[in-house]
Amino acid sequence: MSAGTLITLLSNSQLVEASVSVQPIERIYKLILPKSVAGSVIEHIRREYPIEACGALFGYVTGGLCSITKTVPLRNILASSTSFWFDVREWMQVIIDAGKAGMEYIGLYHSHARDEPLPSLSDRHRMMECPGECWLIVAYKPGYPTKFAAYRVDDYGSSITSIPIVSDF
Ligand SMILES: [Zn+2]
Repeated sequence: MSAGTLITLLSNSQLVEASVSVQPIERIYKLILPKSVAGSVIEHIRREYPIEACGALFGYVTGGLCSITKTVPLRNILASSTSFWFDVREWMQVIIDAGKAGMEYIGLYHSHARDEPLPSLSDRHRMMECPGECWLIVAYKPGYPTKFAAYRVDDYGSSITSIPIVSDF
């Protein structure tokens, strides 16, 4: 999702409020995911399983270190167990609301109802449209360990890089 998409879909009155959230995100080298935040993501995923759960990540970035402080669930409009996407207007609204609360949009999270948090082909395609964003993928399957992985797209969509995750869980 590019900044341009966000701007064209908003009315003029919303442009000023949204301008905060469309500033380029500083490049993220490490992700800090507190146990409480990871817990709310897992809770959302369990609720939706086996449908892929998705949502937005918020927090702040300092010196390449990104702290996730809040996540907001989004409805998977594909209602699929192998892919996800969301209503763009719903996505914009959560970014506007979080921006009002002083939070920076970091990217997206979604679940895989399988045992590995590796980006699928459609994930890779979508990620290329979101340069600078962080994508958190959570593999959740009952009976298997829950696994987290994070990625970012560099250089205007030419490469996908894994981001190390630091957590207290
Ligand atoms: Zn995926």
